[in-house]
Amino acid sequence: LTAPDGTVAATIFAEMSALAVRTGAINLGQGFPDVDGPDSVKEAAVAAIRAGRNQYAPGDGIPELREAVAAHQQRRYGMTLDPATEVLVSTGATEGIAASILALVSPGDEVITLEPFYDVHAACVALAGATQVTAPLVPRDGAFRLDVAALRAAASPRTRMIILNTPHNPTGAVLTRAELEAIAAVARERDAIVVTDEVYEHLVFDDVAHLPIATLPGMRERTLTVSSSGKTFSFTGWKIGWVCGPADLITAVRTVKQFLTFTSGAPFQPAIAGVLGDDDVPRALAASLAGRRDLVCDGLTAAGFDVAVPAGTYFVTADASSLGFDDGVDLCRRLPELAGVVAVPVSAFCTPGSPTWESLRSWVRFTFVKERATLEEGMRRLSGLR
Ligand code: GLN
Repeated sequence: LTAPDGTVAATIFAEMSALAVRTGAINLGQGFPDVDGPDSVKEAAVAAIRAGRNQYAPGDGIPELREAVAAHQQRRYGMTLDPATEVLVSTGATEGIAASILALVSPGDEVITLEPFYDVHAACVALAGATQVTAPLVPRDGAFRLDVAALRAAASPRTRMIILNTPHNPTGAVLTRAELEAIAAVARERDAIVVTDEVYEHLVFDDVAHLPIATLPGMRERTLTVSSSGKTFSFTGWKIGWVCGPADLITAVRTVKQFLTFTSGAPFQPAIAGVLGDDDVPRALAASLAGRRDLVCDGLTAAGFDVAVPAGTYFVTADASSLGFDDGVDLCRRLPELAGVVAVPVSAFCTPGSPTWESLRSWVRFTFVKERATLEEGMRRLSGLR
C-alpha cells in the first residue's frame, strides 16, 4: 500500500486523472462516463432529498433496493435470494469487496486473485493481513484467457478465498463457462469462498454472455456476488453497490460493513431501486459502447498498438512494444506530452516483479466510455505516436 519511498501511494487512477487535469490531455485513463445516467433517475434522487430521506438509511440498505436487487438477480440469472437476509447494500462495489475480504480472511490465509487484478482486490487482501496468490490471464489470439493450470497450481490447503472479476478490468475478458467451472472446481475442492466482482455485468458486447459463478453447481453457498449501479446506470459517484450471497456469509460482511461506513447514501438508494428493473438503460449503454470499442480498437491498431479486443467492460488493453515502448508506466507518464492523451499502465494491476507484471509491462489500458468525438480526437492524437 506504500510507494517505494514509504509514503502512501495514490491509486494509479488518481495519479493519471491528476495528470490529465494538469496537462489538459484527453483522459482515457480512469474509467468513468462523461455522460450521466438518465435524468429521471437524477430526479428521483432529488425527490428523495426533498422528501426528507436525508438521515441514515437502514444499515442493510432500504428494503425497496434490496428487493430490487433480488428481483434483478432472479430476472437476469435465475438466482433466488431472500432480500431480507441475502442482500446487503454497500457504498459502491468497493466497500462490498472490502467488507467481504475483511470479514472472511485472516493472516495465514491465502487468497487467489486473477492477475492483472483490480487494485482494490490486492489492497484489501493486504489490509486483512492475508497472502495474495495470483492466477494469470494471458493474451491468446487477441484476447485474454485464464491460465487454468496456473490457477490449479496456485491453490493450496491454505486457500481461503478466490476473488474474481468478470467482465474483467482491465483486460475486458468475460470469463467463459469453462473458466468459471475451473474456478468453481478449485473453490469446492479447497472449501474456499468466492468473491466475484461483477460490476460490468451488463456491459458485454456481441453475443457474449455474462455468467455469474454463483449459478454453477455447489457455488451458491460459498459465493458472494458483488455489483453496483455505478457502471450499469452511469452514476459512478453515487457509490451504491450491493453484495448477494447466503445469509451466513452476508451476516459476516454486514458485521464489518457497519464499522466501515455504517450505512450508504440514503437518497440515492430509492433512485436506484426505481431504475434497477429497467433493462433498457444498460442495454442501450452496451450497444453504444460496442461501437465505441470498435472505434478505439481500430484507432489503436492504426496507431501501431497490438490490441486485445475486449468482450466486455469499458476498457481496452494494448501492447505498446511494437511502437518501441517497453515500459507502460513510463509511457503513461509521457503520453500527455507525446500525444495529449492519458492512459493507465496495465502493470499497475499486477504484483510488481511478478511474471505477469513482466510480460505485461509494455501494455496500457484505455477507457472508451467517453463521447465519440472525444474518442475520435484521442485516436487522431495517438496516430502521431510513431
Ligand atoms: N474503476 C475505475 C477504473 O478502473 C476507477 C475507480 C477508481 O478511480 N478507483 O478506472
